[in-house]
Amino acid sequence: MDKLTVSEINARGKRVFLRVDYNVPMEEKEGRMVITDETRIKETLPTLQLLIKQGARVILAAHLGRPKGQREPSMSLRPVAERLADMLGRPVAFVDDCIGDKVEKTASILREGDVLVLENIRYYAEEEANDPGFAEKLARVADLYVNDAFGAAHRAHASTEGVARVVAARGGHCAAGLLMERELKFLGDELESPARPFVVVLGGAKVSDKIGVIDKLLEKADAILIGGAMAYTFKLAMGAKVGKSLVEAHKVDVAKAALGKAKSRGVKFLLPTDNTVATPVNTGKLNKKGNPVFELQNPRTNVEPDIPDSEEGVDIGPATSLAYAAELRGARTVLWNGPMGIFEDPRFAAGTIAVAKAVVEATQGGAKSIIGGGDSVKALNQAGLGDQVTFMSTGGGASLEFLEGRVLPGVAALSAR
Ligand code: AMP
Repeated sequence: MDKLTVSEINARGKRVFLRVDYNVPMEEKEGRMVITDETRIKETLPTLQLLIKQGARVILAAHLGRPKGQREPSMSLRPVAERLADMLGRPVAFVDDCIGDKVEKTASILREGDVLVLENIRYYAEEEANDPGFAEKLARVADLYVNDAFGAAHRAHASTEGVARVVAARGGHCAAGLLMERELKFLGDELESPARPFVVVLGGAKVSDKIGVIDKLLEKADAILIGGAMAYTFKLAMGAKVGKSLVEAHKVDVAKAALGKAKSRGVKFLLPTDNTVATPVNTGKLNKKGNPVFELQNPRTNVEPDIPDSEEGVDIGPATSLAYAAELRGARTVLWNGPMGIFEDPRFAAGTIAVAKAVVEATQGGAKSIIGGGDSVKALNQAGLGDQVTFMSTGGGASLEFLEGRVLPGVAALSAR
């Protein structure tokens, strides 16, 4: 890693502007907003504890939801600050703004090891616009800048990029937090020269979301295993019929190009040989958006190359699950992103669970397993296997962009070692 990390800076007595990802899911209960999953808060504790031990004066900035520049009370970070105080076992100050006099006054009376949480930075539209004046205002309480919000690092916003630029221009250090450091290590360094065989499993809804990643990984991987709805665009590209499956017909050329690249580079490129299919039936009901609701009925295994016109592919089939598991068992490095089917419905989760178990088995056999964020993390946790892989990314879009080899503005803004 060529970026400075929080363990390498001397933060004693300094005001550290720490950008974190506290975009936690919340629910209203008896008139109060309650956090329903505190994973993201928990994940910032190592960096916070390190800074507290160093004697820094820590000022935390984060966004919650999409208030679009408005003060939306249900998206306040106050409940997060309260929960953080419980988790740290020490008081945490909160100011109901992220810039201005109140923030500056409170920051000025912080003692070494004190922690202050600022209000949702997206209450200001200037945050997402990366407004230089707004970044200057945020930076008034920043001697040093630390970014631990990998999940937001693909956005050039004031708190992820602008503030870092201001601090750096003043000669201050901008460092990666411990969580950010781990993300860069596993999604970056570890995959740079992976132990072989390097097996990649990609699934999820759309080829268009992941084609950049496929393209990049075709230069690195020994085998790529495709599942999810994405597989049907590849099937279509190969001349098969896909019935009512979710496909991107306009991406057939892109799929063909990837198949060609796999062939010319000698990368094993596996597509499902059987599928779980179901018949979508219109229930006559409308969803919140006013679209008709379909029910998936009569699930069955389809072993034919074509999927009948009335049915749609909803998961990889049992033979494909076995073949993918066998491929994973021999791997020394595994990267997995995206479910193999509509895993939210237990009837169509078997393929995703089979892959999750095979990834865990490969890990037990000594492979490094890296989970590229999003729904695969959800699926692993749902199967109770989240702690049995080497690394689970906290990013969604950020992980994909990073795996594509794109420069993330929030990472680029950090100081070099
Ligand atoms: P992504 O965010 O691209 O990883 O996509 C995850 C979503 O893809 C999940 O909500 C899955 O339900 C969905 N998905 C996976 N396989 C299928 C499929 N065969 N048909 C429709 N949706 C799918």
